[in-house]
Parts: sequence; C-alpha cells; structure tokens
Amino acid sequence: MAALPGRINRLEQALRQICDEVDRLKQEVRELEDENSRLRQEVAGLYAEENEGAGRNRPGARNLWDLYDKGFHICNLYFGKGREGECIFCYALMSRGDQNDGA
Ligand SMILES: [Zn+2]
Repeated sequence: MAALPGRINRLEQALRQICDEVDRLKQEVRELEDENSRLRQEVAGLYAEENEGAGRNRPGARNLWDLYDKGFHICNLYFGKGREGECIFCYALMSRGDQNDGA
C-alpha cells in the first residue's frame, strides 16, 4: 500500500487537472454560446428581410411558420430557441404580418 502523503499528492494533481479541464470546457461553452447567439441574430435578420420583401405569397412568412411548426420560436425575444408549447409573442408577430398583408 502506497504511502498516504504520496497518494494525497497524486489525488491533488488529478483534481487540479480536472479543474483545468472544467475551465477549458467552460470557455468553450462561452464561445459556442456567443457564436450561437450571433448566428441566431443573423438568421433572424435574414427572415426579417425576406418578410419585408414578401408580396402576396409571403414565402418568408411561410418559412417562419414552418420554423414555428418545427418547434422553434420566431419572435424577436427567443428567435431560434426551442419552443415548449405555444408562444404569444410568435403569434403576435405573425398576426401583425397578416394585417400588413391584407392592407
Ligand atoms: Zn416566441
């Protein structure tokens, strides 16, 4: 059986390595979250452009509903995030679009 101080030292080293690894993972998560939110904003911008330019057929609006039906938010608040249940903000956005279309 190895001497206790030696085992403690080895454990301490192992713990330090784990902590370093956790720090690296946290950094990676932060970077991915940043990239994710940047991409989300980019996609939201693309959909918004599409909607503004859409005429009677409103392909942009259809795409938005498709996205909504697939379980994602299309509202400004949570755009691109997974949706649990219905979202009144998404509905508000789309009904506003319908009114503009009918005018
Ligand atoms: Zn929403």
